[in-house]
Formats: sequence, C-alpha cells, structure tokens
Amino acid sequence: MQIEKVYEPQRFEPHWARWWIDSGVFHASQEASRRVFSLVIPPPNVTGSLHIGHMLEHAEIDVTVRWHRMRGDNTLWLPGADHAGIATQMVVERQLAEEGLDRRGMGRDAFIERVWAWKAQYGDRIRSQMVRLGASCDWSRERFTLDPGLSRAVREVFVRLYEKGLIYRGEYMVNWCPRCHTALSDLEVKNSETQGHLWHIRYPVATPGSYIVVATTRPETMLGDTAVAVNAKDPRYFHLHGHTADLPLMNRQIPIVLDDLADPQFGTGAVKVTPAHDPNDFEAGKRHNLPRIKVIDESGRMTAEAGVYAGLDRFEARRRVVEDLERLGLLEKIEPYALAVGKCDRCKTVVEPLISTQWFVRTKPLAEKAIAVVETGRIKFIPENWTKTYFEWMYNIRDWCISRQLWWGHRIPAWHCQECGEIVVARETPSTCARCGSSQLVQDPDVLDTWFSSGLWPFSTLGWPDETPDLKLFYPTSLLITGFDILFFWVARMIMLGCEFMGEIPFRQVYIHGLVRDAERQKMSKTRGNTIDPLVVTETYGTDAVRMALLLGAAPGTDIVLSEDRMESTRAFANKIWNAARLLFVNMERSGVQPWLPNRLETFRPEAQPSIEVAMEDRWIFSRLNTCAEHVNRAIEQYRYHEAAQLLWHFFWHEFCDWYLELKKPAFTENSGLNADWRNVLAAFETALRLLHPAMPFLTEELWQRLKGAAPRPLSIALAEYPQYRRQNADHAAEREIGVLQEIVTLARTLRTEMKIDTRLPLQGTLHARGDALEIGQRHAAAIRRLAGVALEFSAEPAPAGAATRSTSQIDLVLHVPKTEIEAQRRRLTKEREQLEKNIASLGQQLSDEASLSRKPAHVVESMRAKKAAYEAQLAKTKAALDGLDG
Ligand SMILES: [Zn+2]
Ligand SMILES: [Zn+2]
Repeated sequence: MQIEKVYEPQRFEPHWARWWIDSGVFHASQEASRRVFSLVIPPPNVTGSLHIGHMLEHAEIDVTVRWHRMRGDNTLWLPGADHAGIATQMVVERQLAEEGLDRRGMGRDAFIERVWAWKAQYGDRIRSQMVRLGASCDWSRERFTLDPGLSRAVREVFVRLYEKGLIYRGEYMVNWCPRCHTALSDLEVKNSETQGHLWHIRYPVATPGSYIVVATTRPETMLGDTAVAVNAKDPRYFHLHGHTADLPLMNRQIPIVLDDLADPQFGTGAVKVTPAHDPNDFEAGKRHNLPRIKVIDESGRMTAEAGVYAGLDRFEARRRVVEDLERLGLLEKIEPYALAVGKCDRCKTVVEPLISTQWFVRTKPLAEKAIAVVETGRIKFIPENWTKTYFEWMYNIRDWCISRQLWWGHRIPAWHCQECGEIVVARETPSTCARCGSSQLVQDPDVLDTWFSSGLWPFSTLGWPDETPDLKLFYPTSLLITGFDILFFWVARMIMLGCEFMGEIPFRQVYIHGLVRDAERQKMSKTRGNTIDPLVVTETYGTDAVRMALLLGAAPGTDIVLSEDRMESTRAFANKIWNAARLLFVNMERSGVQPWLPNRLETFRPEAQPSIEVAMEDRWIFSRLNTCAEHVNRAIEQYRYHEAAQLLWHFFWHEFCDWYLELKKPAFTENSGLNADWRNVLAAFETALRLLHPAMPFLTEELWQRLKGAAPRPLSIALAEYPQYRRQNADHAAEREIGVLQEIVTLARTLRTEMKIDTRLPLQGTLHARGDALEIGQRHAAAIRRLAGVALEFSAEPAPAGAATRSTSQIDLVLHVPKTEIEAQRRRLTKEREQLEKNIASLGQQLSDEASLSRKPAHVVESMRAKKAAYEAQLAKTKAALDGLDG
C-alpha cells in the first residue's frame, strides 16, 4: 500500500472537489420517501470574491449539510448568486470609465448587455472558489437572482402586491448620491465620524433687534427652511408661540412651530426645519403641513429656489451663505462639532437627502404575520437573543422603498401612459393603456431594490410560481445560516414574503454566526491590512486545516478569532492523522493485509461475536468512539461547531493516536494477515474518519478511498453512514481498565520528567495498588513497560514512605532509580545549587549597595529584586530534590 510520506493537501484537494461534483455526490433527489434537509445559501454578490467571512459561513453550513447527508437525509444545499444591483453596476461603470465610456452615452440596452458580458467573464469567481473549497452544494440547482425563472417570480410578486394595495408610489426622503445619480439603501451609505462645525444663526423675530438662534451643521440648507421649531414646554420661547421668524438671505417669513423635534436640552432649544433636505424635518414637515422647498438638485447643485445661490455647488453655497450671514451680523458663533457624515459606499461622495417619488411596499400587514411566526416559535433564532432584535425591528417597521435609480436589476413592471398619465402594472408588457387605449406607454425607468428579489430566494429558487416537485419537497427549508448584518435586510424580508406568498415560513431555524477577527480580536478590514484571504491560506495550510481552525473558534454568539498560529496547529492536526494512516498502511503492507474496508462500528458487537478475539484496547477504542459520536452528533445538532471540533481533535490526537495506536503497535506483526487485530484497527479507523468527515472532508475522503474494499459500499465517504451512539457499544469495563492503565503510565512519565531522568533509560518500579487496579496493572505490565519504560513489581501493601513516589487515590507508584543515576543526579543538582547560590549572593551584594542603587532607575532595581526572589525559589526546589535523593 503506497502512501506519500508527507501530508500535502494541495495534491489531492482539487481532485476530490471536482470528483464530488462529477460523481453527483451532492445531488439532492426528488424522491419523497426520505427525510428532507434543505437549505439555501445566502447568495453572495456576483461581483464578489470569497472572503474569510464567507469561508466561515460556508464551513458551518457544510458541516451541517454533510452531517445530514451522512445521516441519510435527502439533503439539498442550493447555491447561487445575487445580481447585486448597485455593486455590479459600479464595477462595470468603472470598467467603462477606463475605456473613456459612460453608460448614459451607450444607452440602457447596450449597458445591460455589457453587464451580462461582464458576468459571463467574471461572475463565476465565487462559484469556482466555493467548488475548490469543497462546499457540498447541488450545483445542478444553482440559481441567479436575474435568471428568467427568478425574474418571473419577481414580477408575479410585484403585481400581486400591487393588486392587493400593498405596493404604492409616494414621496420619500432618500439618501441620494449626486455622483452615482441614484437613491442608496442604508446599507450603501457609510457613516463616518467627521470633524465639522455647528453654525449658530440668528433669525430675526417680530420684536425689532431680537432673534431666535438656531444651530445647524449644514447652513446652505437654511435657504429651504420653512419653519423654526421650538419645544412647547420650553419657557424661553413662550412669547414666540404663534409668531413668525424672518428667514435671512431669503426674506421669507416662516412660522415658529411647536414640535418635539426641538430638544430643550440641546443648544438653544430652537431648530430650523428644512423638510426637503433632512429626513427628520421631512417627518416634522408632514406633521405641520409645511411646504417643501427644494434648494439642492440631484447633482448636488443649488436650484433656482436658492435665489442668488442658484447654480452653485452645495459646498460652495455653504461657504457663501456663511460669508453673507457673517457680513449681515447674523452669525452668532461657530463651534467645532463632530458629526456622522454619510457617504456613498461606492464613490465616497457625501450623500444628499432628497425627496423623490418612489415605489413602496406597505410592510405593516406583512410584518404582522412575520412577527407571529417567530412569536409562536415556528421560526427559531439561534442564539436566541436575536429574537429580541428581530422584534424591535419588526414592531417599528417602516414602509419599504423598493425602487432604485439604476439600470442593472429587475425593472419595475409598471408602464406610464404618456397620454393620460395612467400607470399600468402588469406581468407581461402591455401594448395599450387600460384607461385611454393609447399605445404611448413607457416603462418605469427604475429597478427594484436587490433585496426584493433575494427576499423571494427560498421559494423562487425552487420554481415558484409553478408548483414544482422541488418546491413541494424542499419548502419550507430546514435552516438558514447567515450573518447578523443582514438579519433585517434579508432574513426579515424572506419571512414576510414567504408567509405572504407561500402561506408558510421559509425556514424553521436561523443560525446567526459571528464575525471573523484577527489574533488581536480586531475586526478584519482592508484598511487595517489584517484580512486573511481564504484562497491564500488554504493554499498554505490546506482547506481542511483552515476549516478546522475556523470551526474551533465558532462558538454560538461569539466572534471567531483566526490566526496563523491556529492554522499552523490545525495543519499539525491534519498531519497527525495523515501519519496515523501512514503507520497503518505501512504495517498493513508488512502484515500482508490488503487495503480493506472493514466492518462497520454499527454492526460491531464484541459480545455477539465470541469467535472473534477482541483485545481490551479494541473494546476501549470502540467505546470511546461511541462516546465521541454521541457528543459530536449533539454538538453539530446544536450548532456548537467549536465543541464538535474540539471533541474530534481530542479523540483523534489524544485517544486514537496517543493511546490506541501505541497500545496496538505490537499487534502489527509481519505476515499476520487479516486477523482480529487488523479488523478492529481498521474498523476503528474507518469509523473515526466518518466521524471527522463533515469537519475535514478532503483528508477523510482521501484516506477513506484508500481503504478499497471489494464489498459494495457508498461511492464516497460523504454518502457513508454517520456514526451514531449505540448503547450496546458502551463498554464500561474496558473504559475502566484502560483508564487505570493510562493512570499508571501517566504517573510514571510524570515522575521521570520531574526527576529529569532520561526517557530512554529503563527503570524498575513497584506498583502499590488497591482494589482492581492491582490486577489491571498486572494484566498490562508489558504495555506499561513499553509505554513508560518501567518494569513493575506489584504489591497490595501501601508504598513505604520514601523516594520517587507518586500517588493517586488508587495507586502509589515507586520508581527504583539506579545508584549511578542517583549519583549523576546528585552531581547535577549540586552544581545547580552552587550556581544559584552564587547568583543570589551577587544580586544580594548589588542590592545592598545603596549608593549604586540610587543611580539606577526604579524599574531596574525592581527587576533585580524579582530576579533574586526567583533564584531563591528555584534554590529551595533544588535543595528539596537533593534531600529527596538522600531519602
Ligand atoms: Zn456614489
Ligand atoms: Zn392612457
């Protein structure tokens, strides 16, 4: 049996990644007889490239999905990508800009064609990265949010909501990017703390020479003020109730209104109200029926309404307005002021709040159902605290603005009649106006918010609105695993739309994972330069090692720390398993054992097979495997990935490799053939590989495939049965027996270390033991001699007081160290004592020299004192060890 000396995952990972797909291992079946487990991927942006957050998300999904598949469920992980409206449009626009082109110049159709061409060329990146990393998706069911099928679902939903009165047009304050010429969602606006100013401006009031002072961070918007608000309870302004103020520079009278917008605790307690350029003022304007005067246009320039400032850029206008106020003596003061400035996530232009006509979804009626299904526990959030966040959002939900001024996306299926102004909303492009019969219809230029189509993802991907077999079988899906940042944008909308259109929840559980942070627990970001590129680290450490490193930190409700150190150690773990396999394969060859797929643990029952001799260590490892299976199954079921990873690590490293294989080594004799020992070793190994498979799919497939039995078996370990706890496999007698053996060996090794005795030096010893520990020790005398290098005598009497004894509750172990070794020890310890005494004396002298001490910095003196104390402690130990030798 050939097996390479070194664990080199790069040699076999790409092969299995491809083979799994080509062999249909991940293909979900349409047969209805099996239990179903289904999950849709949070569709990554088509513009994206895999980052470490994706890798964590996909590792968690993949562990759960592989586990279900191995448990025999008809398992579907449905993959796909999101067309990502603005993100994709920006990428292509940037590309055009480099060619000196611009989308407006080329026209809508040509531009969209260009985006599709871009997608054909670059849009596959995430997909191929996921394939390489072994994500066990059913790629035959891959979807894209702009697929014809999904686009049909989008239209259907839009039309039905419109017909139900749940979609309407209305005025809305949007975050507008004057550079991209589009409304931005909150997600697309990045707020950054900026050092700005607070300008205090005097608005003259009726009494001559008297003012009301308002403070603003954006003086240019005052040109569009239509009121000043004060708080009704603020005594400073009782005399102004019902009066007006004179808006400087514009010479307009504006009312002084009473509104809670004005906080008596903040500044002067009076605020300017600009309904056309501030979202809070927009709402206040509605409350008081104030006119909206738009002084800044879609390009960020001042409009004709801005009087003499018309045509100026908004920042230039700010400068001029401030100058003019100053000149008129209306500027009371300017204070430095830190404020959050919203910028377009794509182009970094400062966002301008603007009023525009947009399409809305009336969300209240949809939210009611979506709240109910969580309240009644039909959908569960894990960790549970996200439920509260969800309710907070849902109870305060506002109507959803779904139109975007973009070209790339689902165009709104509404047509405006150029003759009579009628709006026709239809599934198919209408040829005439429903009201006047005119054929002059122009489709609405806007597209839908990206989240509109991804909100339908759990059912649109399965064929809705058609009643497909997939839809019947896989909806509702079982689980969603995603990040908290899209809980509202995506998860809540899927729940609302699923309940509305399917009459059924989209998923039963939502597991919210954490963020991946660096070794210093810092958030990873490109600007910090601490990002970890999943493709680079998988190339360095292997996919399995990176997965394992992520999983080890993936405790529910916490962030995940990922460092090079951690990946080094998980790679060492993979290497450990590789070496264990190598040990087995090399010895199989010597023993003349053919690569063989052994009996399953499931059917292994020692007491039922009296003809097969079962060594105690075999009984023990099967019992340990059984316990490990019990705990790992439970951990995966409860999304405690960190715990599953730790259990597997402990089992493989500390039980299978450190103890079992060490105990088993003498059984690997030349030309032994496939005896009971080999059967049991291979059964244990094969079972352990299956247990580990969901966490480390590549390594386990590679090794499992090398156990090429002739017997019929699943094509892939990914389709083999996941080990389950079986009561009959619990073997308490074997656990007790090997437990005592481990105790004796560990005690002997500890003694050796403490006494600094060469690990290879064979020793004599006596085991004084109580109860069955004595017999167990006697039965395993040979193994103890081999593992601890101690030949034991046995005694039922307690150990005599004296040297080199270590005890536990049931045993005392005495090591008989040879005279020559004791003498060597004595010489070494004496030398050590002398050196320590010398050091202490020297430090003592320095520390008593007051004159020289006074010239030294305090911390140096402090460290000298600490050093002396450490030497003294060491000296005490050395002396005790010397005394021990004499005992
Ligand atoms: Zn922009
Ligand atoms: Zn018409």
